[in-house]
Amino acid sequence: MKKVLVTGGLGFIGSHTSVELVNKGYQIIIVDNLSNSKIEVHDKLEQITSKQITFHDIDLTDREAVARIFHENEIESIIHFAAFKAVGESVDKPLDYYRNNIDSLINLLEMCDSHNINKFVFSSSCTVYGQPDKLPVTESFPKMQAESPYGNTKQICEEIIEDFSKSKKRFKAISLRYFNPAGAHESGLIGELPLGVPNNLVPFITQTGAGLRDKLNVFGGDYNTHDGTCIRDFIHVVDLAIAHISALEYAEKMEENYDFFNLGTGKGYSVIEVVKSFEKVSGLSLNYQIVGRRSGDIEQIYADTSKAKERLGWVAELDLDSMMESAWRWQKNLQ
Ligand code: NAD
Repeated sequence: MKKVLVTGGLGFIGSHTSVELVNKGYQIIIVDNLSNSKIEVHDKLEQITSKQITFHDIDLTDREAVARIFHENEIESIIHFAAFKAVGESVDKPLDYYRNNIDSLINLLEMCDSHNINKFVFSSSCTVYGQPDKLPVTESFPKMQAESPYGNTKQICEEIIEDFSKSKKRFKAISLRYFNPAGAHESGLIGELPLGVPNNLVPFITQTGAGLRDKLNVFGGDYNTHDGTCIRDFIHVVDLAIAHISALEYAEKMEENYDFFNLGTGKGYSVIEVVKSFEKVSGLSLNYQIVGRRSGDIEQIYADTSKAKERLGWVAELDLDSMMESAWRWQKNLQ
């Protein structure tokens, strides 16, 4: 049986997508070097799906190791999640980010070339848009100068994939531009792993709720938004996971060699609305304070998701409360 290679499949979004793929009957092979995940996630995936899942601890920048995986398996398509993703860290260690994120991609595309693999789905990000002039953001908005080496790796990777797809007649590639993934699997067994200080708002909130952090600093209360705080398009990680299956199915029939889609709910929530949702579902009162703006933060962004709806037949279904509820269940299970 032909298989889907899921790179970074033990990470936050990759693990949720692995569950949805297995539940849909796909056979998957996970590759992950555990640089930002734990081997226990593999057990949890098998527990949730009641299936055995093949896993290889391999660094995708290791060309020979990658070649071995493709030599030993009949891989039909690839969903490529594996990357370093911490914006701040990428500013301090740009070369690590370029080496990891770009070399991994090139190694995989070389395998697509030599093994005739024609379906490729890539994890991109709404960071490619910067602060857009108009909202919601459609895919036709121009890409802006990246604000960090991390963001730049996403832009460069999209360009590499597009160029490669032009050179291969049957190759079909899709970049998925995620807005702000949040939440966790309903089982509470997998979620976003808190390695170090969270970069994202939701794990910071749940850790503060759990008493692991003193308080949440809300950066900026004087933005031009309804309550003065920044607005983002939070999307449930399970909705996001399902979109990858829609993308794989679309790659089967798409005419273009390369396409890209926004994945969000199409609705923006302010930081304060996210805090209030957490307080509602947890019954707790969160210790937070509004402090000065943080450099590099954009005021607001949310997606126009009509292209994904029309072509992928996909829409996000889960709301903010369900993101906060599942994230809170996951946080409590971690303790
Ligand atoms: P994550 O860190 O939880 O998962 C990435 C996984 O890839 C980790 O398990 C890590 O160990 C693995 N990995 C990294 N480099 C590797 C390598 N060289 N070889 C093998 N495995 C490697 O991140 P995530 O939140 O699940 O993000 C998945 C993808 O989505 C990333 O490409 C990220 O840039 C992108 N993305 C994430 C967000 C977000 O907010 N989480 C937003 C937009 C885009």
